[in-house]
Amino acid sequence: MLKIIFAVLFSFLVIGKEADAADKSSQEILGSGIKGSIESYKVGDIVVIAIKDTDTNMGKSIFLEPDAAIIKRLMSEGNVRSSINTFLIKTAKHNILVDTGIGGSGGATHDNLVYLGIDPSEIDIILITHMHNDHIGGLLFGKDKIYPKAKVYIAAPEIEFWQSRPSAIAANNVLAAYTQNIVPFEFANKALPLFAKGEGDDIEIKVMKAAGHTPGHSAFEVISKKEHLLIAGDIVHNITIQTAEPLMSVTFDTDPEEAAKTREEIFDYAQKNKIPIAGMHIPFGGIVSIQKNKQGGYDFTVVKTNEDAQQKGGEK
Ligand SMILES: [Zn+2]
Repeated sequence: MLKIIFAVLFSFLVIGKEADAADKSSQEILGSGIKGSIESYKVGDIVVIAIKDTDTNMGKSIFLEPDAAIIKRLMSEGNVRSSINTFLIKTAKHNILVDTGIGGSGGATHDNLVYLGIDPSEIDIILITHMHNDHIGGLLFGKDKIYPKAKVYIAAPEIEFWQSRPSAIAANNVLAAYTQNIVPFEFANKALPLFAKGEGDDIEIKVMKAAGHTPGHSAFEVISKKEHLLIAGDIVHNITIQTAEPLMSVTFDTDPEEAAKTREEIFDYAQKNKIPIAGMHIPFGGIVSIQKNKQGGYDFTVVKTNEDAQQKGGEK
């Protein structure tokens, strides 16, 4: 009996310690002046920080075949405020940035990193979901690299796609400037080789093929201490419509049918495994959980950020 009491007491102590650590890191990261631009979310041992790059609108004009009845039912207020988000995976030893935002004078990712006390030269890994300008624009000042020391991971099919389009200036400028930094990867459902042996933390990042929006569009599953978060890029542009009606694709999907299929696959995977989805155009803080509904679509619940690991996980 004494043994059991001691074990229970010990586990409380351990959980309490972890919760303290989470609270501390949230406070340190949040600061006071930029609340609303940065939100933190704990995954096992690590903190994922959602960064709002900028606000944007995702109105009905983005849809390929806007069904008037659906638009009326789900978008009675016209445009839907959305955002461009990037995500910083902060481990004890590494700063991993997922996408870089739109860049130029419109994107705030770089400034928010500086605010967090992270110099761009301290970003050692960048994962790119795909090479549209609102995701890679933040890699360059003019033609100069903003993240000179980062290894930049991009799916091989994505690189090939943009190289075959020399008129796509933004993507090809990035490929030229970062030639020495780029690490192409193939789609395989296994962990990316991000760290040399002994250099890693308790983190694994698996790549998931999410093609359709672009040929090399990738989702990244972050795993630490058996907790998961799926950073799914542009799987949705308008979360309200594309969860209720997942077959509705947008004008800038390279292959709209494949994009719809991928959206359903990722939603199914996330709901079966109870994994929250982080998205680059899910209204900021950018993380939702997904549940299948009886109408053949999905419902979503905004996942609360800035809470410790005991309270989160997609439940209300
Ligand atoms: Zn985008």
